[in-house]
Amino acid sequence: MMRKKVVLDAGHGGHDPGAVNRAMGLEEADMALDVCKRARDLLLPYVDVIMTRDDDRFLTLSERAAIANKTGADAFVSYHFNSASSPGTALSYEGFTTRGQNNSDRLCNAILRHHGKLSPEQKLRADRADGDIDKEANFAVLRNTACPSCLIEGEFIHTSHGGRLIANPTKRQAMAEAVKLGVLEFFEMSSAGLTDEEVLDIIGCIESSCQDLREGLTGV
Ligand SMILES: [Zn+2]
Repeated sequence: MMRKKVVLDAGHGGHDPGAVNRAMGLEEADMALDVCKRARDLLLPYVDVIMTRDDDRFLTLSERAAIANKTGADAFVSYHFNSASSPGTALSYEGFTTRGQNNSDRLCNAILRHHGKLSPEQKLRADRADGDIDKEANFAVLRNTACPSCLIEGEFIHTSHGGRLIANPTKRQAMAEAVKLGVLEFFEMSSAGLTDEEVLDIIGCIESSCQDLREGLTGV
């Protein structure tokens, strides 16, 4: 059987550092690449992994999508860290797909569920526009990718809370593990061995995160 193929896309790079935390000397481009390298190492025993970049170089959004399309990828995951203008203290992550329900939502939701299980201190920023836990955005890397695709914002990098979390290699490993488990679940080759009870547990904890958000813990 042909091995499944996933493209991991570390956001930004080269002259584009992405979001930064100047006080802590953190750049989104470096941290996203680190998470993608960790996810690649975790996934390689199971699937083929193609990185849009594996060093500090700049790629346009269309070059990133073209790599997925040219290699006939079965899934595309773009990894980023967030920032906002307000200082904020919330710890939160989110995932995006294009509008409407399709396999991209299945991929994105699987990664978000595993992220929630592995990093319970972070709250999921969800919207319910299309009835699931991811958000919708017309991002070029998602729009121009032929295969199921999603974009994860692992945490806010500009806050001291978020910066500390991202700077911690154990936390970045957990983010990578969530990508691995989500991708394998999407390919229906889950190695996680989760029981039904554990899956319900994860869904419960995501529901309560959404509840917190509705109750006004809107974060940044
Ligand atoms: Zn970004």
